[in-house]
Amino acid sequence: MKVPKSGRHLGCLFGLVLGTIILFGTASRTSAAEPIEIFDAHLHYNWEPKPYFSLDEVLALFRKHRVTGILATSRPNTGTHALVDARAEGKADGLWVVPFIRPYRIRADIGSWFNDPSIYDLVREEFKRGGYRGVGEFHLTGRAATTDWVRKTVDFAVAHDLYLHAHADAEAVEILFAHNPKSRIIWAHTGFSLDPARVAELLAKHPTLWGELSYRGGITEGGRLTPAWRQLFERYPDRFLVGSDTWINERWASYGDIIAGYRQWLAQLPPEIAAKIAHGNARALFAGPAPAVR
Ligand SMILES: [Zn+2]
Repeated sequence: MKVPKSGRHLGCLFGLVLGTIILFGTASRTSAAEPIEIFDAHLHYNWEPKPYFSLDEVLALFRKHRVTGILATSRPNTGTHALVDARAEGKADGLWVVPFIRPYRIRADIGSWFNDPSIYDLVREEFKRGGYRGVGEFHLTGRAATTDWVRKTVDFAVAHDLYLHAHADAEAVEILFAHNPKSRIIWAHTGFSLDPARVAELLAKHPTLWGELSYRGGITEGGRLTPAWRQLFERYPDRFLVGSDTWINERWASYGDIIAGYRQWLAQLPPEIAAKIAHGNARALFAGPAPAVR
């Protein structure tokens, strides 16, 4: 049928109005629903000599992006103390602060801590403050994990019910479990680009290994979850955590984008799996009281 010109314009106008109503309706529904809560399981509030964001700014940032829990670490540990104190003083309502002992005083410790007895002392001293739930993030590549000081740190963690937060390759993860099979390890970056099949093997072999997903490659392609990672999440819904890894100022500057990036692919998972990875798994790990200081 041939529609007269004026009719076509009317039709276009009608379509436009209808489209606008649909679009507007969708937008208002989206903004009405709260975005999924995020537990940031890889946070550094570094204090060298002062943080990128002040304490008030950082707390406002968590509220703005609905980050309701943090695995808090810093270099030196001063930043972690500030976050713990803020929570204790009621300045961080609704924020769950889970402090980990960072075994670094300065950046260079990353490359030597595993051979440095004074770092072991630092961990033991820091633990006495109370409230700590883990040791990390620390860095290890391959055989560097075999040293006595790493073994002592692992044994200390196990003896005091502390998690380990390890930025490590698969070989170092295996060595940590060989030091002490009772280790509980949060695996920072989950091997970066390691074959997902190998990640699955390690998760199957070590029931107390959890994968944290900052900088983890291959999870999405063109904004869509890849089949390999969808399968991993469906097979191991209880074993993954998300984190920002604010190791440099640029990560703080793009904090909102990092968190939005997680929500983008979490929304592609069944809601119950998304909720576990977004916050549920972290809450389950850290439920219960902090280990006693002894
Ligand atoms: Zn990190």
